Amino acid sequence: MGIATINPATGEVVKTFESLTDSEIEACLESAEQAFTRYRYLPFDKKAEWMNRAAEILERDAQRFAQIMTLEMGKPIKDAIAEAKKSALVCRFYGENAPQFLADVPAASDATRSFVRYQPLGAILAVMPWNFPFWQVFRFAAPALMAGNVGLLKHASNVPQCALAIAEIFKAAGFPPGVFQTLLVGADKVAQIVADPRVKAATLTGSEPAGASLASEAGKNLKKTVLELGGSDPFIVLESADLEAAVQTAVTARMLNNGQSCIAAKRFILADRIAGEFEKKLVAKFKALKVGDPMLPDTEVGPLATPGILKDIDEQVQTCLAAGAIALTGGHRLSERPGNFYAPTILASIPPGTPADQEEFFGPVALLFRVKSLDEAIALANSTSFGLGASAWTTDTAEQDRLTLELEAGAVFINGLVKSDPRLPFGGIKRSGYGRELSIQGIHEFVNVKTVWIK
Ligand code: NDP
Repeated sequence: MGIATINPATGEVVKTFESLTDSEIEACLESAEQAFTRYRYLPFDKKAEWMNRAAEILERDAQRFAQIMTLEMGKPIKDAIAEAKKSALVCRFYGENAPQFLADVPAASDATRSFVRYQPLGAILAVMPWNFPFWQVFRFAAPALMAGNVGLLKHASNVPQCALAIAEIFKAAGFPPGVFQTLLVGADKVAQIVADPRVKAATLTGSEPAGASLASEAGKNLKKTVLELGGSDPFIVLESADLEAAVQTAVTARMLNNGQSCIAAKRFILADRIAGEFEKKLVAKFKALKVGDPMLPDTEVGPLATPGILKDIDEQVQTCLAAGAIALTGGHRLSERPGNFYAPTILASIPPGTPADQEEFFGPVALLFRVKSLDEAIALANSTSFGLGASAWTTDTAEQDRLTLELEAGAVFINGLVKSDPRLPFGGIKRSGYGRELSIQGIHEFVNVKTVWIK
């Protein structure tokens, strides 16, 4: 199915959309180019006024936007409301902080006066995924637009109404025409858009193949990219950990967004001495999760976003089980109801050589491993090709020091959940991607760092 809203809780095709034609794409690119010539020089306070108005709209209509998100990709409605509000937060954050993040920086040299000046690049293409259909877009758009760039959104084909709603928000907030546009196109149009000289850079959040494809196209055209790809984040629990807090957080960290988050905890690496107790508590909590209609306010786990995601996760689980892994709970689809539902699942005793070693499990499946030492925990944590986030639980400061030093990840959280926060940079290493979003580092990705030298 091309571009369409398909309710993942029922399988019903709610609405289909036509992809833009080549001449419509051309008009959008031209509009972006025209808008940039004036928009780039508008003062920060004007841009901040519009950005804050976007935040107000997100907060005011959070319920309505949440319903669109849940309808299109199935996240529990309470999480969708929280996502709309968090998107407002990032608008306010950059509205307030962009002037200081982009202020000229004096640099001593042989000039009478020399300094670094940050200037916008032009139209930036954002290829975005369906899993956080508002947040991922706003965390790109808020810094990009505050820096004076203009944005072109190619959203995932299963969240077109989210994509259109976001463009409406920026319009209603007062941003001039062409400053932020949604292009309803499939992935097949991305190469041609990136190659267009009016597009200056691109960012993608999604799978490795999509990232590699965009980056190679951008590379051919000598354009910068930022990539935020998958992860198989470790969640390490050592002997001194507060076990109750660790288990409670483990459930949230794995089940957030029905398990479809790049920074979800996926591999639980447990010190031998506490592993049995942790497992017992985790199983009890997984069994108690309320799975069902994501539109209901007390639902904790909804359907997976697409039948493809459901098929992939089930195949991964069945391969692990066939190799000898044990399902402590779940391990199957919930086929008594329509939609893409999967049982909250915990796999233990997973032998080496299964998809659990290297693949991202994008769904409600926790993978448990036991280790005898901190060395073994760190080695196992670092053994995948990903490097997005890592969470580790210990009250021993020497262990904390080793973990923050030796874990190969874009972020290490000790005694807490890996999460994104506008105040902290976000991104990965290894095959999880490159570049950073959020914080000062995020707004510096799509600017010309101009050296100015005056005698
Ligand atoms: P994709 O990576 O295919 O989709 C993400 C975005 O990239 C969409 O807008 C998609 O467009 C676009 N896209 C897809 N292929 C290309 C391409 N060749 N060139 C340019 N853009 C492209 O994710 P899926 O939805 O297929 O999910 C598959 C897996 O990806 C998941 O199981 C998960 O492992 C990972 N993933 C990770 C995410 C993260 O947050 N890190 C988010 C989403 C997925 P279109 O929808 O039109 O195909």
